[in-house]
Amino acid sequence: MRPFAYLRAADAPSAVAASAERPNTMYLAGGTNLVDLMRLGVAVPETLVDVSRISSGAVEESADGALLIGAGVRNSDLAADPLVRRRHPMLAQAVLAGASGQIRNMATVGGNLLQRTRCSYFQDVTKPCNKRQPGTGCPARAGDHRNLAIIGHSESCVATHPSDMAVALTALGAIVHVEGADGPRTVPMPGLHRLPGDEPDRDTVLDPGDLVTAVEVPPLPFAARSRYRKVRDRASFAFAVVSVAAALDVADGVVRDCRIALGGVAHAPWRAETAEAALRGSAATEAVFARAADAELAAARPLADNAFKVPLTRNVLVRTLIDLVETS
Ligand SMILES: Cc1cc2nc3c(=O)[nH]c(=O)nc-3n(C[C@H](O)[C@H](O)[C@H](O)COP(=O)(O)OP(=O)(O)OC[C@H]3O[C@@H](n4cnc5c(N)ncnc54)[C@H](O)[C@@H]3O)c2cc1C
Ligand code: SF4
Repeated sequence: MRPFAYLRAADAPSAVAASAERPNTMYLAGGTNLVDLMRLGVAVPETLVDVSRISSGAVEESADGALLIGAGVRNSDLAADPLVRRRHPMLAQAVLAGASGQIRNMATVGGNLLQRTRCSYFQDVTKPCNKRQPGTGCPARAGDHRNLAIIGHSESCVATHPSDMAVALTALGAIVHVEGADGPRTVPMPGLHRLPGDEPDRDTVLDPGDLVTAVEVPPLPFAARSRYRKVRDRASFAFAVVSVAAALDVADGVVRDCRIALGGVAHAPWRAETAEAALRGSAATEAVFARAADAELAAARPLADNAFKVPLTRNVLVRTLIDLVETS
């Protein structure tokens, strides 16, 4: 690992100022992703600004019933929070489906949102990779892409976003609070993470030096009936092959409203707006769920070795919606 300077910021504005004053600065939270990437030589910051203690480590309820989750909240604490578990079970389930107990004790909400792809070429500095080194090419497209994107990818990059938590937050329409050089602002989800286009080195719409300070989850009463279902190669300690976060509001056998996001299929958590539109006002039956899933996945463009993800995603989505109806 290359030598680097270490600073501990006192608050969000001073973290942003410290980042602006020094070239090649990165924020350090739990370090469970960044330190691995530094060891691999993928990330080579000259300065680390430790932000793990500055942002709120609390989940708070605002006057309008939204939950404000500090960027420094540890993943374990988020998953155990009684309000999160009662109001947004899919969020608690998504966090618990990720990593291991030890990692969740260290990992923060801000770091989880901004963790980098697990594409093996990205993590191997002896290989070309447009995301790590723009213009060098994408060996995954013709190489190992079994677990990479089936939708929204580009010639430049076919990587997937790895966070389970971000999939649930996308379904819930979370709002990310950011402190930047021009002060605070908010970024909606979906909208934080980008599709790769011809700039796959940019995972998100954030600018260098932007600091995530909190994530707001707006009130969504029917999300009390929600679920996160993840398919992975091992029972634990494995990233999603595909995943579904869904909430369903059914009355008299008809879908009044729903929220769906997909993980493991794209460069960003994928809000399934086509499926949602097909479901609203329709009968809550397996046949309708299957048609909605097919409508969403009509945009899929699988690669040679990951076409299996299309029927897998369809089946996981349909099963998740059936489960939500049966447990209502
Ligand atoms: C073995 C293993 C298995 C895993 N399995 C899963 C899994 O199944 N599902 C899953 O979702 N995750 C999984 N993870 C990833 C894990 O969830 C992330 O490593 C963790 O959430 C990152 O959080 P952190 O606080 O440690 O971030 P860090 O490693 O400190 O930072 C990650 C990135 O975010 C930036 N950053 C951190 N905080 C901020 C902030 N407030 N504002 C702006 N930028 C910031 C950093 O600069 C860095 O680029 C796994 C990790 C490991 C090591
Ligand atoms: S898929 Fe993206 S991250 Fe993976 S090698 Fe290609 S450019 Fe790099």
